[in-house]
Amino acid sequence: MEHQLKALHISRFYVFLIGIAFFNCAGNQATTTDIPFPQSKKVWHADPGLKDRFHPEYPDDLQVIIHKGSSYTSQSVPELVWVTVISEKNASYSGILLNQPSPDLGYSVGDTIYFKMPSGIEYPLTFTREYLQDRSNWHIEPCSQCGFDELFDLPVKIYEARFPNLRDIITEDESADISAFSLHCELCGGIQKIYHLETALPEDSSMVKQDHK
Ligand SMILES: [Zn+2]
Repeated sequence: MEHQLKALHISRFYVFLIGIAFFNCAGNQATTTDIPFPQSKKVWHADPGLKDRFHPEYPDDLQVIIHKGSSYTSQSVPELVWVTVISEKNASYSGILLNQPSPDLGYSVGDTIYFKMPSGIEYPLTFTREYLQDRSNWHIEPCSQCGFDELFDLPVKIYEARFPNLRDIITEDESADISAFSLHCELCGGIQKIYHLETALPEDSSMVKQDHK
């Protein structure tokens, strides 16, 4: 099973890279929007993680990875799209989608998307508003191999998909069993450990449920 899982991760990431290469070629379709205030006041231009990522002619446009969730919850292949950044909140950004991604990703040109720049990944990554609101409740230990320090879906959703049998037997305190668990990294197959900050401490490794798949 270990080898099968590794193969799954590698194949998904391989397709993912193909997607990036394809949309790199298609990125010249970028357009722009009205600019309500001076470029110098825009915080995203001062973010070191976004430095040198903006289109030279459209200074609020950059490329972002769009996806529909983790490999535990979705079979959709992530794609690279162009986005016009419009606002910032707590180091995450919102922007307007400029490219039409595959229909199964569920987005249309003109949609507002949310993204930020995690560690260990080549491009900024989209997140749902629900994920960004829930993020402060969790400590995500960076991947043991690549350093990726986010997830592709809500921790609870990944947990329920990853450990369905354990979830089924919980009847009383539903949050108690999701205090800590580990996963194979979506990007490289390394190990990420996830702790719920109200019910687990990162140093308590005995609480981490292992992903043995
Ligand atoms: Zn990794």
